[in-house]
Parts: sequence; structure tokens; C-alpha cells
Amino acid sequence: MKGKFIPVVIRQLVELITPSVCLGCEREGAVLCVECTNAAVLTQAAVCFRCGRESVGGRACGDCAALTPLLGVAVGAYYEGAVKELILKLKFYRLRAAAEAATGLVLAALPEDLHVDIVTAVPISPTRYRERGYNQAELVARRLAKRLGLPYSNLLGRETSAHQMGLDRTSRLAQIKGSFYPLREIGGRRVLVVDDVVTTGATLTECAEVLTAAGADEVWGAAVARH
Ligand SMILES: [Zn+2]
Ligand SMILES: [Zn+2]
Repeated sequence: MKGKFIPVVIRQLVELITPSVCLGCEREGAVLCVECTNAAVLTQAAVCFRCGRESVGGRACGDCAALTPLLGVAVGAYYEGAVKELILKLKFYRLRAAAEAATGLVLAALPEDLHVDIVTAVPISPTRYRERGYNQAELVARRLAKRLGLPYSNLLGRETSAHQMGLDRTSRLAQIKGSFYPLREIGGRRVLVVDDVVTTGATLTECAEVLTAAGADEVWGAAVARH
């Protein structure tokens, strides 16, 4: 029987009683072993998420800083191999071990001089939430907040919108525009907004615009992997 046909609840029970097996190499011990983690972690220096030029800790570069509400985007790994598996497990099976490993990847990518007051997640659409029962980015963001000793709060809501897959950057930007809204006043705090996968940075940028408009002082982005 293929794994995806096993109900989620059973998979979660199985997860509790069996040791983790690495999603990359099937070695026992952890959902992502040290070797597979090292293979997936971004090998190039951190880059500006807008233009791809090298930049310390994923900070928006000098040219891009004036053009984006995001101070920077910290990314854990490439979206490939074991990390891709990890994110799919997180997205469709809510595996605790996958959430822990994904959190570790983000944590390792955060710049040392990061100063934020509160952590939030990029929300998924209400339709998606009803189908899945949880937001995979929130699973990571909540753990990350705990590890950083910071509060977690759902600061953003999301309108139901058409699926984004297969759209080019311009259509994607146009579609994302207006799909997020603030759930509360943010009152001068510095926010870290977490997503599972970053592609163009359009989603995180839109979140940062909404958060800034709702009173956030500064906004950093973070993602488990870069597509
Ligand atoms: Zn491995
Ligand atoms: Zn740049």
C-alpha cells in the first residue's frame, strides 16, 4: 500500500511508535539526517530575495531595500530532494518530526543580528484550511517562536483565491495583491513572517505590506526552502 493512502491519523500514530527514517536516504534516526541536511542547506552565500545578489543573512540589498517593505528573507534550504519530501510530508501529513526538522532549517538560516518581537505565519486560504485542517507554515512558525522565546500570533487573514501554480511572476503578483488582510493592530512591533516555500518572494512581500500598513515597525521574512 502506498503511503499516501494511509489515513493521516494512522500515520501520526505510526510516527509515535516507530523511529524516524530519513526522507533522503532512509537511514534510521531522524526525519532528515545530518548528511541530507548538509546536502540541502543553501551552499551559496545568502542572497537578496529580490535580485539574487549576495547579501548578508538574506537582507534586501542596497538597491532593493527602498523598493520592498521586507528587511530580508532568510531561507533554510533548496526545495529539492529530502527537503522537498520534508515539506510535502509537512503539507499533507502533518508529521511532527517534519515540522521539527523544518523549524531547525529556518532557525539555522536566521541572521544572527535578527531583532523581532513577534512571529506569525503566511496564512493559507480558508478553502485550503478546511481541506487540510491546519496551516503548514503555522506549524513551523509556532515552533520557531518557541525556540526564539517569542510570542506567536496569527496576524494575517487570507481571502480565498484561485490556485497560483503555473502563473508567471507578473500574474502571480497581480493575483496575490489584495488577498491578505490584517487580523489585528500590530502596534509598532517587529514581525517575522514565516512561509514553507518561497519562490518569487511575492507572497512574503504582500504580507509585509499588509503588516506594515497595520502598524508593524519592521518585517522580516523566513521560509523553509527556496523553489
Ligand atoms: Zn539522510
Ligand atoms: Zn537586491
